This record gives sequence, structure tokens and C-alpha cells, in this order.
Amino acid sequence: MKIFTAAREKMVEHQLEDRGIKDIKVLYAMRKVARHLFVTEALQSRAYEDCPLPIGENQTISQPYMVAYMTEALELKSSDIVLEIGTGSGYQSAVLAEIVRQVYSIERIKDLLARARKVFDELDYTNIATKNFDGTYGWKEKSPFDAIIVTAASPDIPEPLIEQLAVGGRLVIPVGNTSSQILKRVRKSEKGIEIEELCGCVFVKLIGKYGWGEDDNNSKGYLIH
Ligand code: SAM
Repeated sequence: MKIFTAAREKMVEHQLEDRGIKDIKVLYAMRKVARHLFVTEALQSRAYEDCPLPIGENQTISQPYMVAYMTEALELKSSDIVLEIGTGSGYQSAVLAEIVRQVYSIERIKDLLARARKVFDELDYTNIATKNFDGTYGWKEKSPFDAIIVTAASPDIPEPLIEQLAVGGRLVIPVGNTSSQILKRVRKSEKGIEIEELCGCVFVKLIGKYGWGEDDNNSKGYLIH
């Protein structure tokens, strides 16, 4: 069984550190989590390439740089409780789980979640709880969250996620149309919320009550995060 240690190190140096990722907790997690275990065997040799990859069900595992960038943007502390919307392959959840106390992750596609759950269990990630549901509702019973990450593109910031963010909390979400978005960071304080625009990005659709409808158009035919 290949373990790809050299490929992973090269990915961290060239794709992350050279592009300005600095948070040592994020770099540690990206060095540790074996990305190839979150893709099919046929794609394992490509797992450390600088691009998203298909994971089935028309969904993708995001580019390593985007995973690191969004994780850094969450400004995580080891005591944090984090909500992730869009478990997908489970890779981002595992990166988060290396850094924080507890991760809650929601995925709407049952088969993807079952695959991710199997990998979490095999790798003994006891601090990742998952749910098969529409994540645009958040996970109220487990709120408030110190950080929330949405790994699919939304037309707007879902109101329940803002409500479920703790005071002092950070929410990172791609917002825009179905072909391109701006990654936004929301900070919640006693005074209200503050929204920053971080960078342009392209993600698959967040489908649900406070996201897109199933049939809303995605005009791009190529592989997106
Ligand atoms: N974080 C993932 C990873 O590391 O592999 C990548 C996620 S992929 C870019 C986006 C995921 O969001 C897809 O698996 C998709 O099914 C999921 N998704 C879309 N809308 C959702 C919703 N309302 N609730 C939960 N998951 C959703």
C-alpha cells in the first residue's frame, strides 16, 4: 500500500507554503491527513495534484490549496467546535478534526456520507459527528459553533447558519451565482455581523432550503471544487 509521504510534503511546500499559507496548525493538518484515502483507488496517484478531483455523484474533493485557505480563514483554536456543510469525501472534515475539539459535518448525499463515515471510522476520527440532511438548516441542537465552513456555493448566506454561529465565531462560505462565487467570511460580535470578501472561487452548488434548487443552472461544464 502506497503512503505518498513525499508527494504530500511536496504539496504542502509548493502549493500551500509558497502561496502564503502560514498557520502552523493548518500546515500540520495538511501534512498529516492522507488525502489519497479520500478518493477512489483509481485516483490515488493524483490525490496530491493541484486541482479538485471527482468523488462521484457529480461532486468533488476540493483543491488542496482551497481546503488550506478556507481552514486558515476560520482562524481555529484547538478548543473550537466546528460545523461543516458538505462532507463530500470527508477530507476537509479530517483536516478540521486534526485541529479542533469537535467537528459536526452534514452531507445531503447519503452514499457520499456513508463512504466518508467509513474512512473516518477506519482512521479513528472519534471527533467527527455526521448527519445526512440539508445542511442549509445547520445543526441547531449542537449550536452555537465557533466556526462554520460551507464547502458548496450558495446564492446567499443561509440565515440559520448566522443564527447558529457563536458570538466571536467565524463563518466561511462561497457566495455568488452557480458559475462563480466570492469566498466570504462572516464574523459575529455582540454588535452584529461583519462580512469580508476574501477571494474569487468556483464551487458546486449548495442545494437546499436556503441554497439553490436541484434544477438551478450550472453553466460550467468543467470540474469545479
Ligand atoms: N468538503 C468536501 C471534501 O473535502 O471532499 C468537498 C465538498 S464538495 C465541493 C460539496 C459537497 O456539498 C457535496 O458533497 C454536496 O453533495 C454537498 N452539499 C450540497 N448541498 C448541500 C446541503 N444543502 N447540505 C449538505 N451538503 C450539501
